[in-house]
Amino acid sequence: MKYIDEFRNAHLAHALVKQMKGQALPPIRLMEFCGGHTHAILRFGIRSLLPMEVEMLSGPGCPVCVTSSTDLDRAIALSRIPGVILTTFGDMVRVKGSQGSLQGERARGADVRIVYSPLDALRLAENHPRRSVIFLGVGFETTAPGVAASILEAETKGLKNYFVLSLHKLTPPATRAILDAGEVRLTGILGPGHVTTVIGTDAWKFLPIQYGVPIAVAGFEPVDILQGIRMLVDQISKGQAKVDNAYSRSVLPQGNRTALSIMNRVFDVCDAEWRGLGTLSKSGLQLCTEYARFDASKAFQIPIVSSGEPPGCRCGEVLRGLLFPPECSLFRRVCNLENPVGPCMVSSEGACSAHLQFGDNGHEDRPD
Ligand code: SF4
Repeated sequence: MKYIDEFRNAHLAHALVKQMKGQALPPIRLMEFCGGHTHAILRFGIRSLLPMEVEMLSGPGCPVCVTSSTDLDRAIALSRIPGVILTTFGDMVRVKGSQGSLQGERARGADVRIVYSPLDALRLAENHPRRSVIFLGVGFETTAPGVAASILEAETKGLKNYFVLSLHKLTPPATRAILDAGEVRLTGILGPGHVTTVIGTDAWKFLPIQYGVPIAVAGFEPVDILQGIRMLVDQISKGQAKVDNAYSRSVLPQGNRTALSIMNRVFDVCDAEWRGLGTLSKSGLQLCTEYARFDASKAFQIPIVSSGEPPGCRCGEVLRGLLFPPECSLFRRVCNLENPVGPCMVSSEGACSAHLQFGDNGHEDRPD
């Protein structure tokens, strides 16, 4: 516990805040890409500590939230195939597509099971050789290597009944899309710590080089986050734009080569549909030709019918940093933790659930 305590040390946190408040600052608008950061920022009250010139917006870094309704409908269609066991992480079963949710399908008799890793799904396939076990591959670069490993293990074991529906997404293209759209004017990005542990800080060099936007990669404890914000504030106040690393105990410039290698061996980059951002070029991962026999979208004929958001839900705007969750008319009253309308309330990394759980009055001070 000592290690975590150090990164929750109030004296260190206040020293970082003091450093930021001790200088004249221009208006600074930062986006935390990662849903884990959003939750930590709200949970630890970090917004209220920051200088008034510094605004934090939440971004699209919640994998459950950015999974499109269309892809959810595809997962539901798979769960309805006789003999299929559909496996997924917990939050995904409660998210609604246009056809309802996987939880609803389970209530109607579909065999939908929550697993904690793709290897759990692999074990199910071994234990049920006459059933087709499909793992719903949802997540960013952090999750994809583990899914790739499960496919390699399935191949080694000669399993013919293990499949993956790959809905994996890549984070740099989404960040690029938000900057290209220009809907929010960002002066810096708080970079995702876990993702960057895999892809490395070098993967973010395009931000300062092509967009003139600084980034600081940060971990998830209060001191990590404040250190990242302070690095960004320093860069911006000096007119600099570079890649900083406030999470050097985990993140290297080149990332995790073993994880990248296994991911690149099994997956090819493809276009992917994101909730709120639409279809982004080269922003997803599909199984490469060599492992295509494990691809659920190829092994099973499922209809692809484009579907939209739940009525009234504004998750798309939340994910693009355009809307603070309390500004959604359904927030709390209609959409809450017990009865979530959209994925940003369902997911444990969603911005709406973070605002509801930990409260936030920062939107009242939001500059135009
Ligand atoms: Fe969607 Fe609920 Fe968030 Fe509104 S509060 S954007 S309905 S998840």
